[in-house]
Amino acid sequence: AIPLVVAINTSLAARNGMLVRDRIAMEEARNLDAIIFDKTGTLTEGEHGVVDMATVDGVDETQSVSSANRTSSGDVTEDEALALAAAVESDSEHMIARAIREAAAERELTVPAATDFEAIKGRGVRANVDVSGFASGSAGSSDGGNEVYVGGPNLLTQLDSEVPDHLQRFADEAGRNAQTVVFLVRDGELIAAFAMADVIREESYRVVDALHDLGIEVAMLTGDSQDVANAVADELGIDTVFAEVLPEDKDKKVQELQDQGKFVGMVGDGVNDAPALTRADVGIAIGSGTDVAVQSADVILVQNNPMDVVRLVKLSKASYRKMQ
Ligand code: ADP
Ligand code: MG
Repeated sequence: AIPLVVAINTSLAARNGMLVRDRIAMEEARNLDAIIFDKTGTLTEGEHGVVDMATVDGVDETQSVSSANRTSSGDVTEDEALALAAAVESDSEHMIARAIREAAAERELTVPAATDFEAIKGRGVRANVDVSGFASGSAGSSDGGNEVYVGGPNLLTQLDSEVPDHLQRFADEAGRNAQTVVFLVRDGELIAAFAMADVIREESYRVVDALHDLGIEVAMLTGDSQDVANAVADELGIDTVFAEVLPEDKDKKVQELQDQGKFVGMVGDGVNDAPALTRADVGIAIGSGTDVAVQSADVILVQNNPMDVVRLVKLSKASYRKMQ
């Protein structure tokens, strides 16, 4: 009789917007001890708008550089920095890229041409930007091209970039406000930082509470900074935080909880989340997701609503009772 019950279970699931790719995993969802959520686009809206920026020319009370002293090759105006960043981001689909392009468009900036785009997974983007039309950028190299990067904390680690004091303070302040910060690095020099606001989804508060009521530990996994992750986790009452995690390390965080003897679910939407979805005992892809995420998941939540994670666990528990 069990297969019949499972069949009913999956059609009931389908009516609730859940596509079950692995029935066993769906059944076992009732046993979950911990669920890890991807932050961006899952617990948050994932719609970053640029809310603030700072450049190496920014007012710095400790250095008080007068304009006469601005001879460093790193000197750049806000508009130049934003235009450079938009140029590097012009080939990227990432929410961060979209936000930066929109901010440049809002200021009606001329975005210089760029070539040799490279997406550095979980870190940022790089390109060669033709800055020949730019006043302060053309010092970079003889052919008028500059190697420019835009990215977060993981990029800075890779490039071994030093963050100027006042940009570090800018980033710290933004992080405390749960704003994502990305940096602009031109020819090896960190010259600007952009703060972007993302908002926590209304449903996320109820999801965390409901999972706690079910006795399930809630964890969050993100490539974003520790500051931003902590701010979001504090706001939502999340138990465990994994921040600044590179895409290739996300599955290791799932493993870490499994090694503690926990039965672990993972909820994500991105290409980056695929290995973690595969590693999890119950992999849950949410929203339209990417093909890779969908193919790595046991259950697909068709509507982009994290509350469906709670429904999934409850449905699994209810079906189990019926089977007994
Ligand atoms: P998450 O783990 O939150 O889903 P990603 O793995 O997509 O996020 O990205 C992790 C981090 O990498 C971002 O917070 C950002 O710092 C950096 N990053 C990724 N893509 C870009 C991009 N196109 N431009 C700038 N930074 C990026
Ligand atoms: Mg993501």
